[in-house]
Amino acid sequence: MSLDDVYRQVVMDHYQNPRHHGHLAHPTLSVGLHNPSCGDELHLDVLVDEDGVVRDAAFEGQGCSISMAAASMFVDRVRGKKIAEARRIAETFKDLLRRREADRSVLGDLEALEGVSQFPARVKCATLIMNAFEQAIDRIQAEGGDPK
Ligand code: ZN
Repeated sequence: MSLDDVYRQVVMDHYQNPRHHGHLAHPTLSVGLHNPSCGDELHLDVLVDEDGVVRDAAFEGQGCSISMAAASMFVDRVRGKKIAEARRIAETFKDLLRRREADRSVLGDLEALEGVSQFPARVKCATLIMNAFEQAIDRIQAEGGDPK
């Protein structure tokens, strides 16, 4: 089995069995985002505590396998992480898809989406969840709760 096959299986597994799918009972903030170029829609709930840790997160949405698999992988990856660490994961993933140097060790299953870098139109699908997360965190920090 080639690495491509392994990656494809990881992506399909997240698409068919999404982790942390649904809503949180008491999110700190929710963000909805839409990717018009493909039709993907995502809703993200984030719960951040006073220490700046992403205590919980959940997503719901409709869209292509890349957008949904990326959401499942990303949410699974950032739960329990400090905000700064979670931001770094999002930025590292975007670097990977832009074919820049990226520290893969922080990416976990997200690395399986590297092949998307060959399809610039689909990069927006893969990064929609990160954009939703960054918007949520920006707003939480701007609204003053001041989690680091
Ligand atoms: Zn898409």
